[in-house]
Amino acid sequence: MKMPVLFVGHGSPMNAVSDNKWTQTLRELGKKIPQPKAILCVSAHWMTRGTKILSVDHPKTIHDFGNFPQELFEIEYPAPGEQEIAKEIYFLLKPFKAQLDTSWGLDHGTWSVLLHMYPEAKIPVLQLSLDQGLNEKAHVELGKALRSLREQGVLILGSGNIVHNLRKLNWQNPEAQPFDWTVKFDSATRDALLKRDEDVLLLHKSLLGEASTLAVPTDEHYWPLLYCFGASDSQDQVSFPYEGYEMGSLSMRTVMWS
Ligand code: ZN
Repeated sequence: MKMPVLFVGHGSPMNAVSDNKWTQTLRELGKKIPQPKAILCVSAHWMTRGTKILSVDHPKTIHDFGNFPQELFEIEYPAPGEQEIAKEIYFLLKPFKAQLDTSWGLDHGTWSVLLHMYPEAKIPVLQLSLDQGLNEKAHVELGKALRSLREQGVLILGSGNIVHNLRKLNWQNPEAQPFDWTVKFDSATRDALLKRDEDVLLLHKSLLGEASTLAVPTDEHYWPLLYCFGASDSQDQVSFPYEGYEMGSLSMRTVMWS
């Protein structure tokens, strides 16, 4: 059996303690997709020099944000780690010189999604970092190198946002109308995913001119999508279990390849 690949737009950390259409969709997805043996998350919130693979028995919960209510800082997601799978990923990523890491844990890109999908926190979770020195093509290649994990029951999960502009956020209103460029960039990415058009996904920063610059002012929330795309293949069907916007300048689009 081959596990699906999932990219989730995670949005505000407040989604961890919310009950909305997005959280409900994640809860349903957790029940719908086959129970994974382990989850490998590529989160926007772990940027490093060189690629790192979290390899610990008990990953700590990292509260990597400021100025949010105390209840968010009290959240623990006590999922176990999985060092055997970490080692296997290490071998798969040897050509990329990936290293095992014991310093990180589960950041909110990971747990704000998984606590809805798998509230019991029983499934082992690993993280893979984003090497800030790599170009887009290399991130896709890293994703391709992970493909065989799917046959072993590992759920590859990317957590970021296709459109992510914090400067333009409407903090007062999560349901604010999206900007034109939010919709334009999100739709163009959706179309490229449906066509499996790798070139468009790689050229995202220049393709739409100002809309691209505004939609992806920094790379880290977009890059996890490239890992998921790489881990998927032409046999997969693409679907969008959740589509929507948050605070005007975030796309909450979720993408599934299965
Ligand atoms: Zn984020």
